[in-house]
Amino acid sequence: MTELRWNPTLLEWVSTASLRQGRPQMPQDWCPFCPGSGRVPEHYDVHIYPNDFPAFTVPPPLPAIEGDDFYKVRPSRGKCDVVLYSSDHHASLPQLPVGHLVKLVRLWRSRFRELKALPGIKYVLIFENKGAVIGVTMPHPHGQIYSFPFIPPRLERELVAARAHRRRHRRCLFCDILKKERRDGRRIIAENAVFTAFIPFYARWPYEVHIFSRRHLGTLEDFRPAEERGLAEILKWVTLKYDNLYQMSFPYMMLLHQAPASGRYPFFHFHIEFYPPHRSKEKLKYLASVETGSGAFLNDSLAEEKAAELRAVRPVRR
Ligand SMILES: [Zn+2]
Ligand SMILES: [Zn+2]
Ligand SMILES: [Zn+2]
Repeated sequence: MTELRWNPTLLEWVSTASLRQGRPQMPQDWCPFCPGSGRVPEHYDVHIYPNDFPAFTVPPPLPAIEGDDFYKVRPSRGKCDVVLYSSDHHASLPQLPVGHLVKLVRLWRSRFRELKALPGIKYVLIFENKGAVIGVTMPHPHGQIYSFPFIPPRLERELVAARAHRRRHRRCLFCDILKKERRDGRRIIAENAVFTAFIPFYARWPYEVHIFSRRHLGTLEDFRPAEERGLAEILKWVTLKYDNLYQMSFPYMMLLHQAPASGRYPFFHFHIEFYPPHRSKEKLKYLASVETGSGAFLNDSLAEEKAAELRAVRPVRR
């Protein structure tokens, strides 16, 4: 059973998915994502795998409960994909060569194009949860794609802010942030000809890195070949820096923020956001009462200091 339930106090949808309770724990001796499992091709570089426990499906199942005008209920139409980064069970994003990561970026692009064309899809969210502390049950390197029948609330807030900025200043909010960060420089951690990685002035997590395209791009569809390669390269640099920071495979949540799947959003600007839960090698930042219950974040570090740490770490394999 899965459905969308409307929260009238926050004006947002909650997706229920009681089916997901049956999700497996970490498999002991068998991995469905490894060649030979019978579930994936015998040879692949990168591969789209349908999520076995999707929160959204086409066609959607009948909702478990009937809604009304006040407590609205909608079917959870959508798609959930698993994106396999490599056939090597023990690889991780920073360990893959740039040429291989270009294939990942191209797969994201082609899958994004397919998913946004599906009827009823409003937002295609490409993301990765990495590490057991984030609750990842499959160690095989992978990310995911959720295709939502609505625009998720955080993206909606960014769209509202970007639209207002454009209206007031006739400029892109994200282009302005990028200009300000590059002019200041204290929070930049890596840069190539087409992308800039930095800990934003307004970071909520100690090691929260954002990657902005330098050109004003709305979605992956607007990429040129140089940008495919540039994104692959800077993704590798950022994640290598993370791993080398404490000499450990660094857990993170990574999300691609793009313009919605349908409609015109010329004021939005493609970027990637990383939220690593670590605040030191041993200590994690938890989303406790204030963050969870009030939405206000307490970041007990300075973005400028954390950026200097990450900038000093070399993006090379040990
Ligand atoms: Zn595997
Ligand atoms: Zn822009
Ligand atoms: Zn964003």
